[in-house]
Amino acid sequence: MVATANQSKNQHEEWGFSTRAIHQAQTSLDQSRATTMPIYQTSTYTQVLDGTPVHYEYGRGDSPNREALEDTLTALENGQFAVVFGSGMAACDAILRHLNPGDHIIAGLDLYGGVYRLLEQVYRQHHIAVDYCTFDTDDWVTRIRPTTRLVWLETPTNPLLHVIDIERVTQKAHLHDLTVVVDNTFASPYLQNPLCLGADLVVHSMTKYIAGHSDVIGGVVIGGDARWRESLQFLRNATGPILGPFDAWLILRGVKTLALRMQQHTQNALHIVQFLKTHPRVSQLYYPEGQVAYSKQMRGGGGMISFVLKDADTTHVYEVLRKFRVFAVAESLGGVESLVSHPATMTHSAIPEEERNRRGIVPGLIRLSVGIEDVKDLIADLEHALD
Ligand SMILES: *Cc1c(COP(=O)(O)O)cnc(C)c1O
Repeated sequence: MVATANQSKNQHEEWGFSTRAIHQAQTSLDQSRATTMPIYQTSTYTQVLDGTPVHYEYGRGDSPNREALEDTLTALENGQFAVVFGSGMAACDAILRHLNPGDHIIAGLDLYGGVYRLLEQVYRQHHIAVDYCTFDTDDWVTRIRPTTRLVWLETPTNPLLHVIDIERVTQKAHLHDLTVVVDNTFASPYLQNPLCLGADLVVHSMTKYIAGHSDVIGGVVIGGDARWRESLQFLRNATGPILGPFDAWLILRGVKTLALRMQQHTQNALHIVQFLKTHPRVSQLYYPEGQVAYSKQMRGGGGMISFVLKDADTTHVYEVLRKFRVFAVAESLGGVESLVSHPATMTHSAIPEEERNRRGIVPGLIRLSVGIEDVKDLIADLEHALD
């Protein structure tokens, strides 16, 4: 019935990013000849029983909307396959389920709080050990044990936007047969492709830049080696954290404008970086551009900016946050609307205070997810809030 662009995956390698984002999942459809993918909102598929192999049986297995999204994401990350899940956390969990009791992980020190919680409060109980490190130097290799299986990192990191050299970490890890997983949520496939730098698996919270409109939750694992595909699909069907047809459709619609959005997020962020750089109340500014590994692996700095308000405690920061009119005070990131957050009491509150301060997540730290509004209005909003 539905033929997604599977067969043409490799023919489209010459296409640019946006052409792939828009046309990779083009469906040569049923009689309706709909130009965009319809929503196959069904939990089951009628079987013919005439001996022809069935592709779709039950909605927890394969679904046309998920497959169309997977084809697109495979093309955008230059991978061999993608498997989408009902959330970014479900995507991370599906990878971690490949480990066995006694195995060991080396993870980045700056990790999304939910991933940290999954490792510490779920996988530790299953006797999976984790060491955290910065990957700033090659010293992390001294942490490798005979039981080490995975290296897990995010770059740029959250909330300090530190850029980790993916190629360098991967080369060292592969000498020890370790699988390297890169959470590419902050950069999006438009700004960075970890598989091209040697990483084995990429995960995204599609909730953020890929979907881009703060209206849907989803996750994906994309890989360069098809061996992972089967077991990830098996796990998704066996454990059930699927992305529904409508959510897959919404994300596919969002991803078509990923390039335009990332260009505008980055352009707006650069203006705001310039503004904050000379602001008397800003004592420290964090942005990916200009860091050592930046030009090796990123094609733009993206929309995330963090800065420290001079001599400020939480009360001072809250006074500032209450004054924003355009930026909304909220967790999450990557949507068209600008958000502002206070990592110490919001996204990173689960980390003990002393440890937070040691990592630079001080009470005066503010994180911006710069949206795609008119930048003059964003700067006026910041000017007013910081006044
Ligand atoms: C949000 C996020 C996740 C978790 O994704 P959900 O879609 O919220 O489950 C994982 N990693 C990073 C870097 C994130 O920002």
